[in-house]
Amino acid sequence: MKRGARVRQSVVSRTPIPFARPAIGDSEASEVLATLASGWLTTGPRVQRFEREFGAWVGAQHALAVNSCTAALHLSLLAAGIGAGDEVITTPLTFCATANAIIHTGARPVFADIDRRTYNLDPSAVERAITPRTRAILPVHYAGRPADVLAFQRLSEAHGLVLIEDAAHAVEAVSNAGRVGTTAHFTCFSFYATKNLTTGEGGMVTTASDRAATWIRTAALHGMSRDAFDRFTAKVPSWYYEIVAPGFKYNLTDIAAALGIHQLRRAHAFAQRREQLAAQYAAALDGLPVLLPPQPARGDRHAWHLYVLQLADGAAIGRDALIERLFAAGIGCSVHYIPLHLQPYWRDRYALRPEAFPHSQRAFERMLSLPLYTRMTDADVGRVAATVRAALG
Ligand SMILES: *Cc1c(COP(=O)(O)O)cnc(C)c1O
Repeated sequence: MKRGARVRQSVVSRTPIPFARPAIGDSEASEVLATLASGWLTTGPRVQRFEREFGAWVGAQHALAVNSCTAALHLSLLAAGIGAGDEVITTPLTFCATANAIIHTGARPVFADIDRRTYNLDPSAVERAITPRTRAILPVHYAGRPADVLAFQRLSEAHGLVLIEDAAHAVEAVSNAGRVGTTAHFTCFSFYATKNLTTGEGGMVTTASDRAATWIRTAALHGMSRDAFDRFTAKVPSWYYEIVAPGFKYNLTDIAAALGIHQLRRAHAFAQRREQLAAQYAAALDGLPVLLPPQPARGDRHAWHLYVLQLADGAAIGRDALIERLFAAGIGCSVHYIPLHLQPYWRDRYALRPEAFPHSQRAFERMLSLPLYTRMTDADVGRVAATVRAALG
């Protein structure tokens, strides 16, 4: 009996805990099947509905669905008129897509360091990086903890800069300036498989600008416009279209939107579960030589996309060894991010040195992200925390 119980327990404790796992339910699955049965697979009625419902949920004037946050960033930068000769200030502690999108417009990404406590782009570092060529500021709401948007709005107004928020982590977040999605010229969301809401692959731009919204809608689908002949609707046959710009293939499919419509309905429950899991981690990791993730500022709402720990100086083992211990226990974890100043492309092209980004560099050397997703059980959190505790004990 005892032996049997022990065997069972060890089997249970070896069940892998992946780093992330989407929460796809029956309602998502049946909507996808209905989409397939409808015969309309690509951009159509479900994308329209997802845009309408997402826009209403965020409170945005326009919500434009695209097939990734990377596409959302690229189109936002282009809609803002950014191109060769321009500079866009962003953080080095982000996913490469943030800076890749800037490069694809022909502009130059200029990196400013993070605030060492929040991991978010530091407004005073941004201010020091502004030059006559600066055209935009592109902060990331790192881990879902809102950036200091009020400060970025002030810089944007004082220097005539476009504010574009990378909200890939921040779908439910509220910053000191308001609901994320309503506080910048453009806000870009991701529905990638690991994100808080997912459509497999997908993204959304929100903006208050009618002109930019019209441009983005056209540019996201080859630059095809029907607007040009709307005036003649009655006379124009349905096969006719006009290309008004060399656009992109960035449109979302109805299959993906079918997932999004139902993910959106569960967004509030997802957000509450993420908050709970983060609180459980904080309690279970208390007293260890680690820096816990910073709490949101008063009045803000954290989207808890990532749960990022930083090892304190007195820790018994290093970050890499801790990751190995977690992997050995069947627990997925990751590092967000290897800062862009260490990546060969940016390091070499812009001659970036770690000394220029001391806070990003220091955080990178000590940080790791623990699993955080709504399908985790309380017991999963307990097991991850116990493994961290045993490794650091
Ligand atoms: C995931 C992510 C992106 C890219 O999102 P995609 O939808 O995969 O293009 C951009 N920025 C950050 C910070 C991300 O985490």
